[in-house]
Amino acid sequence: MGEHQFSDLMADRLHEECGVVGISSPSDDVAQMVFFGLFALQHRGQEAAGIAVSDGVQARIHKDDGLVSHVFNASTLAPLRGPHGIGHTRYSTTGGSGSRNAQPFLVETVHGPLAVAHNGNLVNAHELRAELLARGFGLTASSDTEVMTLMLASAGGQTWEDRLARTLSSWTGAYSLVILVEDRVIAVRDPWGFRPLSVGRLPDGGYAVASETCALSTLGCKEMSEVAPGEIITLRGTEMSRRQALVPAVKAARCTFEFVYFSRPDSQWDGLSVHGVRQRMGEQLARESAVEADVVVPVPDSSIPAAVGYSRQSGIPYNDGLIKNRYIGRTFIEPTTLMRERGVAMKFNALAENLTGRRVILIDDSLVRGTTAGPLVQLLREAGATEVHLRITSPPIKHPCHFGVDMGHDDDLIAARLNLEELCKVVKADSLAFLSLDGMMSAVGRQDGYCNACFTGEYPVPVQAPRRKDSFEQVLA
Ligand code: SF4
Repeated sequence: MGEHQFSDLMADRLHEECGVVGISSPSDDVAQMVFFGLFALQHRGQEAAGIAVSDGVQARIHKDDGLVSHVFNASTLAPLRGPHGIGHTRYSTTGGSGSRNAQPFLVETVHGPLAVAHNGNLVNAHELRAELLARGFGLTASSDTEVMTLMLASAGGQTWEDRLARTLSSWTGAYSLVILVEDRVIAVRDPWGFRPLSVGRLPDGGYAVASETCALSTLGCKEMSEVAPGEIITLRGTEMSRRQALVPAVKAARCTFEFVYFSRPDSQWDGLSVHGVRQRMGEQLARESAVEADVVVPVPDSSIPAAVGYSRQSGIPYNDGLIKNRYIGRTFIEPTTLMRERGVAMKFNALAENLTGRRVILIDDSLVRGTTAGPLVQLLREAGATEVHLRITSPPIKHPCHFGVDMGHDDDLIAARLNLEELCKVVKADSLAFLSLDGMMSAVGRQDGYCNACFTGEYPVPVQAPRRKDSFEQVLA
Protein backbone atom coordinates (compact mmCIF):
# COMPACT_ATOMS: atom_id res chain seq x y z
CA MET A 1 0.00 0.00 0.00
CA GLY A 2 2.98 2.22 0.66
CA GLU A 3 3.61 2.97 -3.01
CA HIS A 4 0.14 4.41 -3.40
CA GLN A 5 0.49 8.06 -2.78
CA PHE A 6 -2.10 10.10 -1.00
CA SER A 7 -2.46 12.33 -4.05
CA ASP A 8 -3.16 9.27 -6.22
CA LEU A 9 -5.93 8.32 -3.90
CA MET A 10 -7.50 11.73 -4.07
CA ALA A 11 -7.12 11.83 -7.87
CA ASP A 12 -8.77 8.45 -8.39
CA ARG A 13 -12.29 9.78 -8.49
CA LEU A 14 -14.17 11.54 -11.19
CA HIS A 15 -14.61 15.13 -10.29
CA GLU A 16 -17.79 16.94 -11.08
CA GLU A 17 -17.10 20.43 -12.10
CA CYS A 18 -19.20 22.56 -9.88
CA GLY A 19 -22.58 23.24 -8.44
CA VAL A 20 -24.56 26.39 -9.06
CA VAL A 21 -27.45 28.04 -7.26
CA GLY A 22 -29.51 31.12 -8.15
CA ILE A 23 -32.27 32.67 -6.06
CA SER A 24 -34.60 35.62 -6.47
CA SER A 25 -36.92 36.22 -3.56
CA PRO A 26 -39.20 38.86 -2.08
CA SER A 27 -36.97 38.72 1.00
CA ASP A 28 -33.75 40.67 1.40
CA ASP A 29 -31.84 37.82 2.94
CA VAL A 30 -31.16 35.75 -0.11
CA ALA A 31 -27.46 35.20 0.67
CA GLN A 32 -28.25 32.82 3.49
CA MET A 33 -30.53 30.81 1.23
CA VAL A 34 -27.83 30.67 -1.45
CA PHE A 35 -25.40 29.50 1.24
CA PHE A 36 -27.64 26.60 2.24
CA GLY A 37 -28.24 25.75 -1.41
CA LEU A 38 -24.47 25.59 -1.97
CA PHE A 39 -24.06 23.58 1.19
CA ALA A 40 -26.34 20.92 -0.32
CA LEU A 41 -24.15 20.90 -3.45
CA GLN A 42 -20.80 20.64 -1.69
CA HIS A 43 -20.20 17.19 -3.22
CA ARG A 44 -20.03 18.80 -6.68
CA GLY A 45 -16.94 20.87 -5.89
CA GLN A 46 -14.76 21.44 -2.87
CA GLU A 47 -11.98 23.70 -4.05
CA ALA A 48 -13.66 27.09 -3.85
CA ALA A 49 -17.01 28.72 -3.21
CA GLY A 50 -18.57 32.10 -3.91
CA ILE A 51 -21.78 34.07 -3.61
CA ALA A 52 -22.78 37.28 -5.42
CA VAL A 53 -25.86 39.25 -4.36
CA SER A 54 -27.57 42.28 -5.88
CA ASP A 55 -29.70 44.72 -3.90
CA GLY A 56 -31.40 45.88 -7.10
CA VAL A 57 -28.70 48.39 -8.00
CA GLN A 58 -25.35 47.18 -6.81
CA ALA A 59 -23.85 43.70 -6.63
CA ARG A 60 -21.44 42.46 -3.97
CA ILE A 61 -19.45 39.27 -3.93
CA HIS A 62 -17.46 37.09 -1.61
CA LYS A 63 -15.50 34.08 -2.85
CA ASP A 64 -12.46 32.16 -1.76
CA ASP A 65 -10.76 28.78 -1.84
CA GLY A 66 -12.17 26.12 0.44
CA LEU A 67 -15.38 24.42 1.43
CA VAL A 68 -18.62 26.39 1.57
CA SER A 69 -18.53 26.31 5.37
CA HIS A 70 -14.93 27.58 5.41
CA VAL A 71 -15.52 30.41 2.96
CA PHE A 72 -18.71 31.74 4.57
CA ASN A 73 -19.63 32.71 8.08
CA ALA A 74 -21.95 35.32 9.57
CA SER A 75 -19.52 38.17 8.93
CA THR A 76 -18.73 37.26 5.29
CA LEU A 77 -22.44 36.81 4.55
CA ALA A 78 -23.56 40.01 6.29
CA PRO A 79 -22.53 42.49 3.55
CA LEU A 80 -24.28 40.40 0.89
CA ARG A 81 -27.68 42.05 1.29
CA GLY A 82 -30.31 41.92 -1.42
CA PRO A 83 -33.13 39.89 -2.97
CA HIS A 84 -31.22 38.39 -5.93
CA GLY A 85 -28.21 36.12 -5.59
CA ILE A 86 -26.17 33.37 -7.21
CA GLY A 87 -23.59 30.97 -5.82
CA HIS A 88 -21.02 28.52 -7.01
CA THR A 89 -19.03 25.70 -5.54
CA ARG A 90 -16.06 24.79 -7.61
CA TYR A 91 -13.88 21.94 -8.66
CA SER A 92 -11.59 23.30 -11.36
CA THR A 93 -12.25 22.48 -15.01
CA THR A 94 -10.82 24.68 -17.71
CA GLY A 95 -8.50 26.94 -15.81
CA GLY A 96 -6.40 25.72 -12.95
CA SER A 97 -7.48 25.58 -9.37
CA GLY A 98 -6.06 29.00 -8.44
CA SER A 99 -8.34 31.35 -6.53
CA ARG A 100 -8.53 33.81 -9.43
CA ASN A 101 -10.72 31.21 -11.10
CA ALA A 102 -13.14 31.02 -8.19
CA GLN A 103 -16.66 31.91 -9.23
CA PRO A 104 -19.00 33.72 -9.67
CA PHE A 105 -17.26 36.15 -12.03
CA LEU A 106 -18.50 39.66 -11.37
CA VAL A 107 -17.92 42.54 -13.77
CA GLU A 108 -19.37 46.04 -14.00
CA THR A 109 -20.87 46.73 -17.43
CA VAL A 110 -22.60 49.70 -19.08
CA HIS A 111 -25.84 47.86 -18.33
CA GLY A 112 -25.03 47.37 -14.64
CA PRO A 113 -23.45 44.50 -12.72
CA LEU A 114 -23.12 41.07 -14.30
CA ALA A 115 -22.09 37.96 -12.38
CA VAL A 116 -21.88 34.48 -13.88
CA ALA A 117 -21.52 31.03 -12.33
CA HIS A 118 -20.99 28.05 -14.61
CA ASN A 119 -21.20 24.29 -14.43
CA GLY A 120 -19.82 22.58 -17.51
CA ASN A 121 -17.09 23.13 -20.05
CA LEU A 122 -17.08 24.80 -23.46
CA VAL A 123 -15.21 22.78 -26.05
CA ASN A 124 -14.56 25.89 -28.16
CA ALA A 125 -13.33 28.09 -25.28
CA HIS A 126 -9.84 28.42 -26.77
CA GLU A 127 -11.15 29.93 -30.00
CA LEU A 128 -13.53 32.24 -28.13
CA ARG A 129 -10.73 33.35 -25.85
CA ALA A 130 -8.47 34.11 -28.82
CA GLU A 131 -11.26 36.19 -30.38
CA LEU A 132 -11.70 38.21 -27.21
CA LEU A 133 -7.96 38.83 -26.94
CA ALA A 134 -7.92 39.92 -30.59
CA ARG A 135 -10.74 42.36 -29.83
CA GLY A 136 -8.57 43.95 -27.15
CA PHE A 137 -10.12 42.45 -24.03
CA GLY A 138 -7.84 41.88 -21.08
CA LEU A 139 -8.47 38.54 -19.40
CA THR A 140 -7.66 38.04 -15.77
CA ALA A 141 -8.59 34.43 -15.19
CA SER A 142 -7.97 31.31 -17.20
CA SER A 143 -11.41 29.77 -17.14
CA ASP A 144 -14.02 29.59 -19.87
CA THR A 145 -16.48 31.25 -17.50
CA GLU A 146 -14.66 34.56 -17.78
CA VAL A 147 -14.84 34.22 -21.56
CA MET A 148 -18.61 33.69 -21.35
CA THR A 149 -19.00 36.64 -18.97
CA LEU A 150 -17.09 39.04 -21.23
CA MET A 151 -18.92 37.87 -24.34
CA LEU A 152 -22.22 38.56 -22.60
CA ALA A 153 -21.08 41.93 -21.31
CA SER A 154 -20.14 43.06 -24.81
CA ALA A 155 -23.12 41.58 -26.69
CA GLY A 156 -25.75 43.77 -28.34
CA GLY A 157 -29.40 43.69 -27.29
CA GLN A 158 -32.02 45.56 -25.28
CA THR A 159 -32.16 43.17 -22.33
CA TRP A 160 -29.82 40.67 -20.73
CA GLU A 161 -32.06 37.90 -22.03
CA ASP A 162 -31.61 39.28 -25.58
CA ARG A 163 -27.85 39.51 -25.15
CA LEU A 164 -27.80 35.98 -23.84
CA ALA A 165 -29.94 34.65 -26.67
CA ARG A 166 -27.58 36.29 -29.19
CA THR A 167 -24.48 34.86 -27.53
CA LEU A 168 -25.61 31.31 -26.82
CA SER A 169 -25.20 30.06 -30.36
CA SER A 170 -21.43 30.79 -30.18
CA TRP A 171 -20.97 28.43 -27.27
CA THR A 172 -20.35 24.76 -27.99
CA GLY A 173 -20.34 22.28 -25.16
CA ALA A 174 -21.72 22.00 -21.68
CA TYR A 175 -23.11 24.94 -19.76
CA SER A 176 -25.62 25.19 -16.98
CA LEU A 177 -25.35 28.83 -15.99
CA VAL A 178 -26.79 31.10 -13.36
CA ILE A 179 -26.44 34.78 -14.04
CA LEU A 180 -27.00 37.71 -11.70
CA VAL A 181 -27.85 41.17 -13.02
CA GLU A 182 -29.03 44.16 -11.03
CA ASP A 183 -32.68 43.21 -10.64
CA ARG A 184 -32.95 39.50 -11.39
CA VAL A 185 -31.41 36.08 -11.80
CA ILE A 186 -31.25 34.31 -15.16
CA ALA A 187 -30.61 30.61 -15.70
CA VAL A 188 -29.73 28.91 -18.96
CA ARG A 189 -28.83 25.40 -20.06
CA ASP A 190 -27.02 24.27 -23.20
CA PRO A 191 -29.12 22.68 -25.97
CA TRP A 192 -27.67 19.22 -25.30
CA GLY A 193 -28.57 19.31 -21.62
CA PHE A 194 -25.22 17.86 -20.53
CA ARG A 195 -25.30 19.05 -16.95
CA PRO A 196 -28.35 19.26 -14.72
CA LEU A 197 -30.21 22.43 -13.75
CA SER A 198 -33.63 22.63 -12.12
CA VAL A 199 -35.95 25.36 -10.91
CA GLY A 200 -38.45 25.40 -8.05
CA ARG A 201 -40.74 27.71 -6.11
CA LEU A 202 -39.57 28.81 -2.66
CA PRO A 203 -41.86 28.87 0.38
CA ASP A 204 -41.72 32.72 0.40
CA GLY A 205 -43.05 32.86 -3.18
CA GLY A 206 -39.66 33.46 -4.78
CA TYR A 207 -37.80 31.05 -7.06
CA ALA A 208 -34.56 29.10 -6.94
CA VAL A 209 -32.50 27.31 -9.57
CA ALA A 210 -29.85 24.77 -8.67
CA SER A 211 -27.66 22.10 -10.21
CA GLU A 212 -29.51 19.41 -8.33
CA THR A 213 -32.98 19.03 -6.94
CA CYS A 214 -31.50 18.05 -3.55
CA ALA A 215 -30.54 21.73 -3.09
CA LEU A 216 -34.05 22.84 -4.05
CA SER A 217 -35.52 20.36 -1.56
CA THR A 218 -33.20 21.71 1.16
CA LEU A 219 -34.60 25.18 0.45
CA GLY A 220 -38.17 23.88 0.74
CA CYS A 221 -38.99 24.32 -2.95
CA LYS A 222 -42.14 22.98 -4.55
CA GLU A 223 -43.21 22.78 -8.21
CA MET A 224 -39.77 21.69 -9.35
CA SER A 225 -38.94 21.24 -13.01
CA GLU A 226 -35.85 21.02 -15.18
CA VAL A 227 -34.53 24.05 -16.99
CA ALA A 228 -35.03 22.61 -20.48
CA PRO A 229 -32.06 22.27 -22.85
CA GLY A 230 -31.70 25.61 -24.68
CA GLU A 231 -34.07 27.38 -22.30
CA ILE A 232 -33.58 30.74 -20.55
CA ILE A 233 -35.44 31.23 -17.27
CA THR A 234 -35.73 34.62 -15.60
CA LEU A 235 -36.42 34.89 -11.86
CA ARG A 236 -37.51 38.21 -10.37
CA GLY A 237 -39.02 38.11 -6.89
CA THR A 238 -42.29 36.20 -7.16
CA GLU A 239 -42.18 36.18 -10.97
CA MET A 240 -40.68 33.58 -13.24
CA SER A 241 -40.64 33.62 -17.04
CA ARG A 242 -39.35 31.01 -19.47
CA ARG A 243 -38.12 31.41 -23.03
CA GLN A 244 -36.86 28.73 -25.40
CA ALA A 245 -33.82 30.56 -26.76
CA LEU A 246 -32.16 27.75 -28.68
CA VAL A 247 -33.75 24.76 -30.35
CA PRO A 248 -32.82 21.72 -28.22
CA ALA A 249 -30.30 19.40 -29.87
CA VAL A 250 -31.89 16.65 -31.93
CA LYS A 251 -30.12 14.17 -29.65
CA ALA A 252 -29.97 15.28 -26.04
CA ALA A 253 -26.74 14.37 -24.23
CA ARG A 254 -27.44 14.22 -20.52
CA CYS A 255 -24.44 12.98 -18.57
CA THR A 256 -25.02 9.38 -17.52
CA PHE A 257 -22.42 9.79 -14.81
CA GLU A 258 -24.85 11.91 -12.83
CA PHE A 259 -26.61 8.61 -12.15
CA VAL A 260 -23.44 6.59 -11.65
CA TYR A 261 -21.62 8.85 -9.24
CA PHE A 262 -21.99 12.64 -9.28
CA SER A 263 -25.49 13.46 -8.15
CA ARG A 264 -26.66 13.01 -4.62
CA PRO A 265 -28.96 9.98 -4.37
CA ASP A 266 -31.82 12.17 -3.16
CA SER A 267 -31.73 14.20 -6.38
CA GLN A 268 -33.79 13.66 -9.51
CA TRP A 269 -32.00 13.62 -12.85
CA ASP A 270 -34.07 13.71 -16.01
CA GLY A 271 -37.10 13.19 -13.78
CA LEU A 272 -35.70 9.93 -12.38
CA SER A 273 -34.61 9.18 -8.82
CA VAL A 274 -30.81 8.88 -8.75
CA HIS A 275 -31.10 6.46 -5.84
CA GLY A 276 -33.58 4.28 -7.73
CA VAL A 277 -31.39 4.15 -10.86
CA ARG A 278 -28.33 3.22 -8.75
CA GLN A 279 -30.24 0.35 -7.15
CA ARG A 280 -31.31 -0.91 -10.57
CA MET A 281 -27.70 -0.69 -11.76
CA GLY A 282 -26.74 -2.99 -8.89
CA GLU A 283 -29.57 -5.38 -9.74
CA GLN A 284 -28.54 -5.44 -13.39
CA LEU A 285 -24.90 -6.04 -12.46
CA ALA A 286 -25.97 -9.03 -10.35
CA ARG A 287 -27.84 -10.44 -13.36
CA GLU A 288 -24.86 -9.91 -15.65
CA SER A 289 -22.01 -11.09 -13.44
CA ALA A 290 -23.20 -13.41 -10.70
CA VAL A 291 -20.58 -15.01 -8.48
CA GLU A 292 -20.81 -17.18 -5.37
CA ALA A 293 -20.06 -15.15 -2.25
CA ASP A 294 -21.09 -14.56 1.37
CA VAL A 295 -21.50 -10.81 1.57
CA VAL A 296 -22.02 -7.76 -0.69
CA VAL A 297 -20.02 -4.73 0.47
CA PRO A 298 -20.19 -1.21 -1.03
CA VAL A 299 -17.40 1.32 -1.38
CA PRO A 300 -19.17 4.09 0.54
CA ASP A 301 -21.00 6.33 -0.11
CA SER A 302 -21.92 6.43 -3.77
CA SER A 303 -22.01 2.63 -4.21
CA ILE A 304 -24.38 1.91 -1.33
CA PRO A 305 -27.64 1.90 -3.34
CA ALA A 306 -26.07 -0.27 -6.06
CA ALA A 307 -24.81 -2.75 -3.44
CA VAL A 308 -28.32 -2.92 -1.97
CA GLY A 309 -29.63 -3.65 -5.49
CA TYR A 310 -26.95 -6.28 -6.11
CA SER A 311 -27.77 -7.96 -2.82
CA ARG A 312 -31.50 -7.92 -3.48
CA GLN A 313 -31.11 -9.44 -6.93
CA SER A 314 -28.49 -12.04 -5.95
CA GLY A 315 -29.91 -13.00 -2.57
CA ILE A 316 -26.43 -12.53 -1.03
CA PRO A 317 -26.61 -10.49 2.20
CA TYR A 318 -25.55 -6.87 2.18
CA ASN A 319 -23.31 -5.52 4.94
CA ASP A 320 -20.87 -2.69 5.65
CA GLY A 321 -17.25 -3.66 5.16
CA LEU A 322 -15.60 -0.28 4.71
CA ILE A 323 -16.12 2.84 6.78
CA LYS A 324 -15.16 6.09 5.10
CA ASN A 325 -13.81 9.25 6.59
CA ARG A 326 -15.81 11.58 4.38
CA TYR A 327 -13.68 14.65 4.95
CA ILE A 328 -10.20 13.30 4.35
CA GLY A 329 -9.87 14.81 0.88
CA ARG A 330 -10.28 18.29 2.26
CA THR A 331 -8.13 18.44 5.34
CA PHE A 332 -6.08 21.45 4.17
CA ILE A 333 -3.32 19.96 6.30
CA GLU A 334 -0.56 18.46 4.19
CA PRO A 335 -0.14 14.88 5.44
CA THR A 336 3.27 13.77 6.63
CA THR A 337 5.12 11.12 4.64
CA LEU A 338 4.12 8.54 7.20
CA MET A 339 0.45 9.43 6.79
CA ARG A 340 0.71 9.62 2.99
CA GLU A 341 2.09 6.12 2.92
CA ARG A 342 -0.99 4.89 4.69
CA GLY A 343 -2.74 5.70 1.41
CA VAL A 344 -6.25 4.29 1.20
CA ALA A 345 -6.22 3.53 4.94
CA MET A 346 -6.37 7.30 5.52
CA LYS A 347 -9.76 7.29 3.89
CA PHE A 348 -11.24 3.88 4.74
CA ASN A 349 -11.14 1.47 7.64
CA ALA A 350 -12.20 -2.15 7.15
CA LEU A 351 -14.79 -3.72 9.46
CA ALA A 352 -13.13 -7.07 10.18
CA GLU A 353 -16.18 -8.50 11.95
CA ASN A 354 -18.12 -8.46 8.66
CA LEU A 355 -15.25 -9.67 6.51
CA THR A 356 -13.27 -12.36 8.32
CA GLY A 357 -13.60 -15.72 6.63
CA ARG A 358 -16.07 -14.36 4.07
CA ARG A 359 -16.12 -14.29 0.28
CA VAL A 360 -16.79 -10.65 -0.50
CA ILE A 361 -18.38 -8.94 -3.49
CA LEU A 362 -17.06 -5.36 -3.45
CA ILE A 363 -19.27 -2.89 -5.33
CA ASP A 364 -17.75 0.33 -6.68
CA ASP A 365 -19.25 2.83 -9.11
CA SER A 366 -16.34 3.32 -11.49
CA LEU A 367 -12.72 2.53 -12.21
CA VAL A 368 -10.82 5.66 -13.25
CA ARG A 369 -7.07 5.62 -12.70
CA GLY A 370 -7.23 2.35 -10.79
CA THR A 371 -5.16 3.56 -7.85
CA THR A 372 -7.87 3.02 -5.22
CA ALA A 373 -9.35 -0.35 -6.17
CA GLY A 374 -6.17 -2.40 -5.58
CA PRO A 375 -5.53 -1.00 -2.08
CA LEU A 376 -9.20 -1.48 -1.17
CA VAL A 377 -9.10 -5.12 -2.26
CA GLN A 378 -5.94 -5.53 -0.17
CA LEU A 379 -7.57 -3.81 2.81
CA LEU A 380 -10.45 -6.31 2.69
CA ARG A 381 -8.04 -9.24 2.46
CA GLU A 382 -6.02 -7.93 5.41
CA ALA A 383 -9.27 -7.76 7.37
CA GLY A 384 -9.82 -11.46 6.72
CA ALA A 385 -11.80 -11.68 3.47
CA THR A 386 -11.03 -15.02 1.81
CA GLU A 387 -12.04 -13.87 -1.69
CA VAL A 388 -12.72 -10.40 -3.13
CA HIS A 389 -14.80 -10.08 -6.30
CA LEU A 390 -14.86 -6.53 -7.63
CA ARG A 391 -18.03 -5.42 -9.42
CA ILE A 392 -18.24 -1.99 -11.07
CA THR A 393 -21.63 -0.37 -11.70
CA SER A 394 -20.57 1.34 -14.93
CA PRO A 395 -18.78 0.24 -18.11
CA PRO A 396 -15.01 0.73 -18.40
CA ILE A 397 -14.03 4.42 -18.81
CA LYS A 398 -11.81 4.56 -21.88
CA HIS A 399 -12.12 8.14 -23.09
CA PRO A 400 -11.73 11.58 -21.49
CA CYS A 401 -14.70 13.84 -20.84
CA HIS A 402 -14.78 17.24 -22.54
CA PHE A 403 -17.99 18.39 -20.94
CA GLY A 404 -17.06 19.37 -17.46
CA VAL A 405 -15.74 16.28 -15.72
CA ASP A 406 -12.11 15.86 -14.84
CA MET A 407 -11.21 12.25 -15.45
CA GLY A 408 -7.77 12.87 -16.92
CA HIS A 409 -6.61 11.79 -20.36
CA ASP A 410 -6.38 8.49 -22.21
CA ASP A 411 -3.06 7.75 -20.50
CA ASP A 412 -4.57 8.27 -17.07
CA LEU A 413 -7.54 5.99 -17.64
CA ILE A 414 -6.54 2.48 -16.70
CA ALA A 415 -9.31 0.81 -18.72
CA ALA A 416 -8.04 2.57 -21.84
CA ARG A 417 -4.73 0.71 -21.51
CA LEU A 418 -5.60 -2.68 -20.06
CA ASN A 419 -8.10 -5.42 -20.86
CA LEU A 420 -10.36 -7.02 -18.27
CA GLU A 421 -7.93 -9.79 -17.37
CA GLU A 422 -5.04 -7.34 -16.96
CA LEU A 423 -7.18 -5.01 -14.87
CA CYS A 424 -8.17 -7.86 -12.58
CA LYS A 425 -4.50 -8.72 -12.08
CA VAL A 426 -3.57 -5.12 -11.33
CA VAL A 427 -6.23 -4.73 -8.65
CA LYS A 428 -5.49 -8.25 -7.37
CA ALA A 429 -9.16 -9.24 -7.20
CA ASP A 430 -10.39 -12.82 -7.53
CA SER A 431 -12.68 -11.64 -10.31
CA LEU A 432 -13.67 -8.35 -11.89
CA ALA A 433 -16.73 -7.36 -13.91
CA PHE A 434 -18.18 -4.11 -15.24
CA LEU A 435 -21.82 -3.30 -15.93
CA SER A 436 -22.47 -3.37 -19.68
CA LEU A 437 -23.48 -0.20 -21.52
CA ASP A 438 -26.84 -1.75 -22.43
CA GLY A 439 -27.28 -2.90 -18.86
CA MET A 440 -26.55 0.59 -17.53
CA MET A 441 -29.05 2.17 -19.89
CA SER A 442 -31.68 -0.44 -19.10
CA ALA A 443 -31.22 0.48 -15.42
CA VAL A 444 -31.78 4.12 -16.41
CA GLY A 445 -34.81 2.95 -18.40
CA ARG A 446 -34.03 5.12 -21.43
CA GLN A 447 -31.82 4.20 -24.33
CA ASP A 448 -31.54 7.65 -25.91
CA GLY A 449 -30.86 11.19 -24.81
CA TYR A 450 -27.66 10.51 -22.87
CA CYS A 451 -23.97 11.16 -23.32
CA ASN A 452 -21.89 8.01 -22.91
CA ALA A 453 -18.76 9.35 -24.59
CA CYS A 454 -16.35 8.37 -21.82
CA PHE A 455 -17.38 4.74 -22.37
CA THR A 456 -17.83 4.72 -26.13
CA GLY A 457 -15.66 7.55 -27.50
CA GLU A 458 -18.70 8.79 -29.44
CA TYR A 459 -18.83 12.45 -28.51
CA PRO A 460 -22.19 14.18 -28.94
CA VAL A 461 -20.43 17.29 -30.28
CA PRO A 462 -17.10 17.32 -32.13
CA VAL A 463 -14.17 17.77 -29.78
CA GLN A 464 -10.60 18.72 -30.46
CA ALA A 465 -7.46 17.08 -29.09
CA PRO A 466 -7.64 16.73 -25.33
CA ARG A 467 -6.42 19.70 -23.37
CA ARG A 468 -5.12 19.77 -19.87
CA LYS A 469 -7.54 21.66 -17.71
CA ASP A 470 -4.86 24.23 -16.93
CA SER A 471 -3.75 24.87 -20.50
CA PHE A 472 -4.93 28.48 -20.35
CA GLU A 473 -2.56 28.93 -17.46
CA GLN A 474 0.35 28.70 -19.86
CA VAL A 475 -1.10 31.53 -21.96
CA LEU A 476 -1.38 33.69 -18.88
CA ALA A 477 2.10 32.73 -17.70
S1 SF4 B 1 -18.18 12.03 -21.35
FE1 SF4 B 1 -18.91 10.82 -19.57
S2 SF4 B 1 -18.67 12.17 -17.78
FE2 SF4 B 1 -18.54 13.46 -19.63
S3 SF4 B 1 -20.63 14.24 -19.99
FE3 SF4 B 1 -20.39 12.36 -21.20
S4 SF4 B 1 -21.11 10.71 -19.84
FE4 SF4 B 1 -20.74 12.50 -18.55
